[in-house]
Amino acid sequence: MATLSNGDAHPLAKIPSIKFTKLFINGEFRDSLSGKTFETVDPRTAEVIVRIAEGTKEDIDVAVKAARDAFDNGPWPRMPGVARAKIMLKFADLIEENAEEIAALDAIDAGKIYNFCKNGDIPQVAATLRYYAGAADKIHGQTLKMSRDLQGYTLMEPIGVVGHIIPWNFPSIMFFAKVSPALAAGCTMIIKPAEQTPLSALFYAHLAKLAGIPDGVLNVIPGFGATAGAAISSHMDIDAVNFTGSTEVGREIMQAAAKSNLKPVSLELGGKSPLIIFDDADIDKAAELALIGILFNKGEICVASSRVLVQEGIYEEFEKKLVEKAKAWVVGDPFDPKVQQGPQCDKKQFEKILSYIEHGKRQGATLLTGGKPIGDKGYYIEPTIFADVKENMLIAQDEIFGPVLCLFKFKTIEEAIKMANNTRYGLAAGLVTKNIDTANTVSRSIRSGIVWINCYLAFGNDAPYGGYKMSGFGRDFGLDALHKYLQVKSVVTPIYNSSWL
Ligand code: NAD
Repeated sequence: MATLSNGDAHPLAKIPSIKFTKLFINGEFRDSLSGKTFETVDPRTAEVIVRIAEGTKEDIDVAVKAARDAFDNGPWPRMPGVARAKIMLKFADLIEENAEEIAALDAIDAGKIYNFCKNGDIPQVAATLRYYAGAADKIHGQTLKMSRDLQGYTLMEPIGVVGHIIPWNFPSIMFFAKVSPALAAGCTMIIKPAEQTPLSALFYAHLAKLAGIPDGVLNVIPGFGATAGAAISSHMDIDAVNFTGSTEVGREIMQAAAKSNLKPVSLELGGKSPLIIFDDADIDKAAELALIGILFNKGEICVASSRVLVQEGIYEEFEKKLVEKAKAWVVGDPFDPKVQQGPQCDKKQFEKILSYIEHGKRQGATLLTGGKPIGDKGYYIEPTIFADVKENMLIAQDEIFGPVLCLFKFKTIEEAIKMANNTRYGLAAGLVTKNIDTANTVSRSIRSGIVWINCYLAFGNDAPYGGYKMSGFGRDFGLDALHKYLQVKSVVTPIYNSSWL
């Protein structure tokens, strides 16, 4: 059994053998029609964990047929909301019962910190299912009093067969951000996990069946973007597509939807989020917030505080504190309880981040700390902080999606707002101040889907989450997300001999 430096049993020892490696279609695991498989790799070691059945267009077609049949003829969209809720609640319980195994899968597949995953992501996804289970029997339209002779009402109907294309940075949270409201609405669905992280998605398919979700309602097809993903966005019999990932792929998905059956799309894309620290902030707490904002999940989070704007009066001291804290941050094996940052998700991401760091140095930014890979195996990168960053530098404009923070100095509120908005993205922003007027002015002036005041990365099922500008459109979470999976039908009927207007 593996042990830690303090002699405790290494939690790695608890990793189970991988049980599910095949496509999940119509309630059963099966090989892909082509017989092809692909490798999923452990970013801690760069070694192959297991081979997974590779879904392609033909498999997507079979899954869509199953989902269509489950939607047109099956019980799921027709059962009372409370009955769907009961099954969703059972699904949530099963997830919690299997928290350790699922957290271990996300740790070896995505390099996520095992304890954060077990105590954070997994309870969070169970809570997301429960939140939408609570909404499943409260879906209703309105009564319309149209004229003296006409009355009407609206029906909120499930939109149909939905395609979810999800990324690798939060394999569990992304899965349930999409699946939970769609289930509550009565939709049937195809989920394509990212090719880097198929393991937990297949485990969830197994739990969905155990919970009693009818066959064909939830289908999971691992595979690549250009084949399985593209087959979803261009499919003529999928009624809506929900995507989280890069802005470039978001654009392709929208084009494919437009060229096929004009299905509505919802896109949650990249970000370059500003965190603005004003002179009156508690410097130590603000530095902590900035660091967690960029290093949580090794910077592989679309709302990372990748641009930190600090007012000139506290800039020097803030910079010193931030660098001290970054140097004390522990990077290493995600199963080690002392570790705060695991490896980047894959080789491509690892190399991309390192190339941005080189760019930053070449373009003249000052590297205050970090900047190098760690160790000789796996995809570990040091927490990296740049100062003297110009707003037009690549590291100030592109989403790096790694542990790389850019520091900026500002004088006035107006200047901070202008700098914060100087990006093509608009996903999130944060600000730290004790002044309520500053907080109000800044939060209303920033063009982003979320603004955090005196906090960062504060999420909740009830708070809608999504982008302005090129960070996309449509919202995950909150009741806004439920409405993505519903469509409104107006029903109108004449009234005869009414004595009332
Ligand atoms: P990506 O956008 O290529 O992949 C995300 C998902 O889209 C995966 O499931 C992938 O298979 C699928 N996909 C890829 N091409 C597709 C296509 N043509 N049609 C349909 N689906 C397709 O992301 P990536 O290449 O893994 O990462 C690149 C960058 O994207 C990252 O460095 C980061 O900047 C950004 N990203 C953002 C998020 C986010 O949460 N907003 C998540 C992951 C990646």
